Amino acid sequence: MLILKFGGTSVGKPERMKKVADLVIGTPGRKVVVLSALSGTTNTLVEIGDALAGGDADGAAAKIEQLEAYYHTFIKALFSSESYRTVGEEIVSRHFSLIRLLAAGKFNDRTKRELLAQGELISTELFFTHLNERNVKSTMLPALHFMSIDADGEPELEKIGERLRPLVQSLEKYEILITQGYICRNHKNEIDNLRRGGSDYTASLIGAAVRADEIQIWTDIDGMHNNDPRIVKKTFPISELTFDEASELAYFGAKILHPSTIVPAQKYKVPVRLKNTMDENAHGTIISDTSESGEIKAIAAKDNITAIKIKSSRMLLAYGFLRRIFEVFENHHTSIDMISTSEVAVSVTIDDMSSIKQICEELEKLGTIEVDENQTIVCIVGNKLVTKQDVLKLIFNSLGSIPVRMVSFGGSRNNISLLIDTTHKEKALNLLNEGLFDYTHA
Ligand code: ADP
Ligand code: ASP
Ligand code: MG
Repeated sequence: MLILKFGGTSVGKPERMKKVADLVIGTPGRKVVVLSALSGTTNTLVEIGDALAGGDADGAAAKIEQLEAYYHTFIKALFSSESYRTVGEEIVSRHFSLIRLLAAGKFNDRTKRELLAQGELISTELFFTHLNERNVKSTMLPALHFMSIDADGEPELEKIGERLRPLVQSLEKYEILITQGYICRNHKNEIDNLRRGGSDYTASLIGAAVRADEIQIWTDIDGMHNNDPRIVKKTFPISELTFDEASELAYFGAKILHPSTIVPAQKYKVPVRLKNTMDENAHGTIISDTSESGEIKAIAAKDNITAIKIKSSRMLLAYGFLRRIFEVFENHHTSIDMISTSEVAVSVTIDDMSSIKQICEELEKLGTIEVDENQTIVCIVGNKLVTKQDVLKLIFNSLGSIPVRMVSFGGSRNNISLLIDTTHKEKALNLLNEGLFDYTHA
């Protein structure tokens, strides 16, 4: 069994959705096809939600109308016969009636999540109908019947598998099973989601749950690049990564993958292949257990980081100080990314600011605190990277005079992380690209 996930840009234009159908039809064997919403849709649904939350009903209505008009144009080009266009119209009208109903009612977090789910619900129904028009047999595998998260928002992999395996078995006569990325049910059985970019995560969770042969993430670029191609000009695709390397890159900001994508796949050692829908013959990236070692593979950057320094005169020989600090973060369900310590102070970084006020109040009881916002973690990844001779010298020589606020080295053998002010990010990524990759590729 293969899992094939296609992102927003891969299904965002009628001709692209047809191309996805070609790829699915041309792939032998049974497969679960995971689709995102058409590109731009989730953003627009977020904007509609924001308008409604801010009491701007007219603004929301205008956006709903505009989005619906786009879908009507889309189905005109997607379907070739009038009868299938009518089916397409019905799908779109049904979902937009629901969107209007949600907009008219009392708007709260639950209705917002239901609103956000409409993108994937529409794209999968349209794709299923397109395959029908082409006389290709397929079936829907509704994500809301098996994909779930617990009270902390974490996917329940075991339960997902227990629901999914018999479902997939019962649909034995179908080779193509179509499901929605991103959406799920929460512990209250309400519609929820796996956070932005979550369709990658869906594909990996399904792949792990059914112990698939491979998870393929099809997107608009030829695999994981060695640096962020939106910021750095000279980047190139990496052909192989280990699960650990890919996991670090995804977690530390490589947008091609949702931050948690690799975790379920790695648990059951299901290889993940990143492929380009626009260039299916390009090699892409294969993520598995093995890879060449000792090389600097890639750089990623994660923004919106806050650094907190806790300085205590009592730290000197005071065991238990770190535990007390960590407990504050644990009590507020806030995870720490980087940490560095000295005799008198501890610096940590977080990206979740929802409890910052309470965290600071509690930390103030332990020492003097300083908070720096708008920081970026730059993460340099490679297999057994830290064993590479002179790697730190190389990094700091490349960075020149860019000030570095924190460094994490040796926490894992694959990762060196630096904390810099976000204003220096673009320059830092470009300098590191030149310094590190010109060296390793020389
Ligand atoms: P999809 O809609 O298919 O999920 P995304 O936009 O989420 O696609 O992810 C693909 C984009 O990720 C690429 O177009 C690229 O701009 C961006 N990206 C950021 N960092 C990297 C990287 N290291 N390698 C490849 N792409 C990256
Ligand atoms: N449609 C969702 C988003 O835009 C999920 C995804 O595309 O992966 O965030
Ligand atoms: Mg994505």
